[in-house]
Amino acid sequence: MITHLNLPDIIIAVDGFSATGKSTFAKLVAKEFGFLYLDSGALYRGVTLFAQEQGLIEGTDRIDTERLYPMLGDLDLHFRADGLYMGERCIEKEIRSLKVSSSVSPIAVLARVREWVDGRLHEYGRRGRVIMDGRDIGTAVFPDAQLKIFMVADENVRAGRRYDEMVAKGENPTMEDVLKNLRERDYIDSHRETNPLRQAPDAYVLDNSDMTLHEETVWFRGLVQGKFGILC
Ligand code: C5P
Repeated sequence: MITHLNLPDIIIAVDGFSATGKSTFAKLVAKEFGFLYLDSGALYRGVTLFAQEQGLIEGTDRIDTERLYPMLGDLDLHFRADGLYMGERCIEKEIRSLKVSSSVSPIAVLARVREWVDGRLHEYGRRGRVIMDGRDIGTAVFPDAQLKIFMVADENVRAGRRYDEMVAKGENPTMEDVLKNLRERDYIDSHRETNPLRQAPDAYVLDNSDMTLHEETVWFRGLVQGKFGILC
């Protein structure tokens, strides 16, 4: 039986490609070990939704940065127990739509947006005992994180998971669109100039293509035992 006492107040960084199951894994670890879970991708998605609603994105990737940047100062995105809020409005469902997914990587390329998101993440990180998932948490946002995990999974497995997730939420995507979106985001995320998606040299790789969630937690406990000498 795991208690919340047996892992120190560290920062855990979970990075990886889209739909590798980072958030499911990180949420479970957070629950079992009493950590705060933070979804950094949600903030990029929140900025994207905001820009779309303000009419600052034409097509999927032409962004009016001149108007967007000054507006970031007043943008209120914050986490509550049921997800991300923009002011008093819960935007958790909208930020997961394919429309937002199609423009989020072009938004996340922008260095000024990354600075803004990193500022929010550092505020939350100051509290310690945080598990954060994203693309650059272990390489750029918290390079000193005491535990770094890099998640990978087979592309078709990832697309299937994302497809099921969207259908469960009432969306009606085609498998082809989902796969195309994953490929585009992976490409942009790993080729951008500012803090591209990379495996940190000191990250532990978790390939969950053929793993159940239970097996992932067993793997994590083994990692914690080996690294911190803690039996859990
Ligand atoms: O994790 P999720 O798929 O929700 O992230 C959405 C997008 O936000 C990613 O495809 C990526 O473009 C961007 N992102 C990022 N850096 C992070 C987290 C997310 O660039 N740390």
